[in-house]
Amino acid sequence: MKSSRSEELFRRALEIVPGGVNSPVRAFRSVGGNPKFIARGEGSRIFDVDGNEYIDYVGSWGPLLLGHRHPEILAALERALSFGTSFGAPTELEVELASAICEAMPSIEMVRLVNSGTEATMSAIRVARAFTGRERIIKFEGCYHGHVDSLLVQAGSGLATLGLADTPGVPQSFCDTTMALPYNDLDVLEGAFRTYTDRIAAVIIEPVVGNMGCVPPLPGYLEALRDITQRYGTLLIFDEVMTGFRVALGGAQERYGIRPDLTTLGKVIGGGLPVGAYGGRKDIMSKVAPAGPVYQAGTLSGNPLAVSAGLAMLRHLKAHPETYTQLETRTAALCEAAPQGVTVNRVGSMFTFFFNPHPVTDYESAKKSDTARFGRFFRAMLEGGIYLPPSQFESAFVSAAHTDADIERTAAAAREAFSA
Ligand SMILES: *Cc1c(COP(=O)(O)O)cnc(C)c1O
Repeated sequence: MKSSRSEELFRRALEIVPGGVNSPVRAFRSVGGNPKFIARGEGSRIFDVDGNEYIDYVGSWGPLLLGHRHPEILAALERALSFGTSFGAPTELEVELASAICEAMPSIEMVRLVNSGTEATMSAIRVARAFTGRERIIKFEGCYHGHVDSLLVQAGSGLATLGLADTPGVPQSFCDTTMALPYNDLDVLEGAFRTYTDRIAAVIIEPVVGNMGCVPPLPGYLEALRDITQRYGTLLIFDEVMTGFRVALGGAQERYGIRPDLTTLGKVIGGGLPVGAYGGRKDIMSKVAPAGPVYQAGTLSGNPLAVSAGLAMLRHLKAHPETYTQLETRTAALCEAAPQGVTVNRVGSMFTFFFNPHPVTDYESAKKSDTARFGRFFRAMLEGGIYLPPSQFESAFVSAAHTDADIERTAAAAREAFSA
């Protein structure tokens, strides 16, 4: 496989960009080798600057549910571009995107658009603290909620990949009010509520975790979480930045039948452009300025290009509910390639092959995976033209652009890579 152009670009990038990448998860450090520089994408494929073609299971880390260069999204972008790129004043498109979100997720009665998932979770935490008049936050080990200071504790994703528990640069006092508990463990959660009773502002959770690899909630876990938060007057925040419009049109909350107080969104709702959102109960969201006193703002929030791409995405998904059944079937077929001794976790079109013979239900069990074997598997797949997330602790994604033939080819490559 030719890689001279990627190598040359990476050498240049290393000099002037930290680690040569603009987000740590793009590095290939944990799997060995250097990242491929991508030139273009089309449907289920990406092509690197050396002309190599790959079937893509990263999908820009979640947003590209319809694959690369979907015609409806391109058309919406071209239309928006002809009117201008940014106004810093309200536009019709923002009202339409907000309506599409509220309609798909009935727990969201009011929503504010931002530019990333990180902004969404940061703002949701702020409004939850203001609304409850409490300071403490519960999160779960291995869940990633963006690079928000107070949430970078046992935060999964790139930190898990690099083996970091937390990060320098965050004052201890910022994290004193954050408790990181094991995922899927109700006893520990109940203990925390007994100790801190009326001091917990919010519990923030990935209802299906994607950021320690794919880890689903155990049966009854989310229901119990809803129940206990309600009993203690604590807000339940579903971080659906990854799962929103991915595991069902209405996200994990639709799939599991739970109504959170607040929801954070990102990734899919931008159709491949930068959009985030947070929303929920009207009495809570009414606290956000200028309706209320909780300040949160953004120069490019609701940007017309980004919003038009997101709206085209959501409109397509609403008009094509069969997308989700197809994704389910194709991803399930792909996951059958996993041999004995490899645990495969899957929810909808999110999946991870864990090099771990035991069930993976939380961060502790995820961390017991054999990352060296994962690295060998990753490199064999890449050589075979299959582009997976370069980490054992990330979910892979199937898109609506993946055909049965793509899935068959990938499963064949996986069987070969597993046996090698
Ligand atoms: C990706 C992700 C974020 C952060 O979103 P950014 O757009 O990268 O800031 C937050 N929460 C979850 C669950 C995510 O998967």
